[in-house]
Amino acid sequence: MEIFAGIYQLKVPIPDNPLGHLNAYLIRDGDGGHLIDCGWNAPEAWDALQQQLDQFGVGLRRLRTIVMTHIHPDHYGLAGRLKEASGARLVVHRLEEPFIDSRYVRFERVLDELAPWLRQFGVPDAELTAFQRASMPVLSRVAVAVPDELLFGGETLTLGPYTFDVIWTPGHSPGHIVLYERSAQVLIAGDHILETITPNVSYNPQSGPNPMRDYIDALRRVRDLPTKLILPGHERPMHDLPKRVDEIIHHHEERNQDILKTLGRGELLPYEIARAIPWIGGTVTWEDLGVWHRRLAVMETLSHLEYMRWEGRVKRTSVDGLMRYRLA
Ligand SMILES: [Zn+2]
Ligand SMILES: [Zn+2]
Repeated sequence: MEIFAGIYQLKVPIPDNPLGHLNAYLIRDGDGGHLIDCGWNAPEAWDALQQQLDQFGVGLRRLRTIVMTHIHPDHYGLAGRLKEASGARLVVHRLEEPFIDSRYVRFERVLDELAPWLRQFGVPDAELTAFQRASMPVLSRVAVAVPDELLFGGETLTLGPYTFDVIWTPGHSPGHIVLYERSAQVLIAGDHILETITPNVSYNPQSGPNPMRDYIDALRRVRDLPTKLILPGHERPMHDLPKRVDEIIHHHEERNQDILKTLGRGELLPYEIARAIPWIGGTVTWEDLGVWHRRLAVMETLSHLEYMRWEGRVKRTSVDGLMRYRLA
């Protein structure tokens, strides 16, 4: 549907995933168009994307630009097929670009690094291989495409009648960007800001040293932009940017408090902390989580721990190759 003058929201299904669908955004430009994000590589998604491009009057061949908010499979997975079919130029932040190769093409090295990395934070040997390989199934959902243009953040992108400021918003992914249209007061937000869920912020071998700090800083960077309409990568559009930003920051501080409370018992491994704290609003226990979500849970716990270590609220020790955290 046309969600703002000349901007169309395309719903692209993500089969077998609780997120349900990705929101891609099409900006009409004469008889052509520009697309922000595209969905993952499943037949239902490809069909839905093509059908909606046709419906909104921009056939595949008239697509000129594909801009990625970040290269997670649910946003980037169809980029290869889409670029091949349309010849559109693919635009990605320069910090996302290396992940295309390291995660989706030559992924063995990342996998090899991951096992010892997970072990040092307490993942038991019995679960290590499952944790290490938890992202493998999603590889089939990505058809890679090489970017034509790399963004730094701070530049502008003219897409049809609109000129967007490219704002670098690391945290959920190191090279995540949002697009802000100052005169229309529209923010295309990717996974940076979602209506009811909070995007995963993981400390992992590719995240940089303090992704939670990056994320909170990047939330504050956009909080006060005059905005009438926020167009997210999942769920529904929003209107009150400062309110949602404050809610997300508050949520993360509550998670910090859950962790600090658990650390009241003494020094613990991140895996032990992740097992002990509530997940998904306290509705789910550790035993209910599948291996992919357990891995995310450990990495998200770590992003909070490293954030609080930087703030001076917790300390980290390393004994016999195991990293433990305690109250400062
Ligand atoms: Zn994402
Ligand atoms: Zn997403």
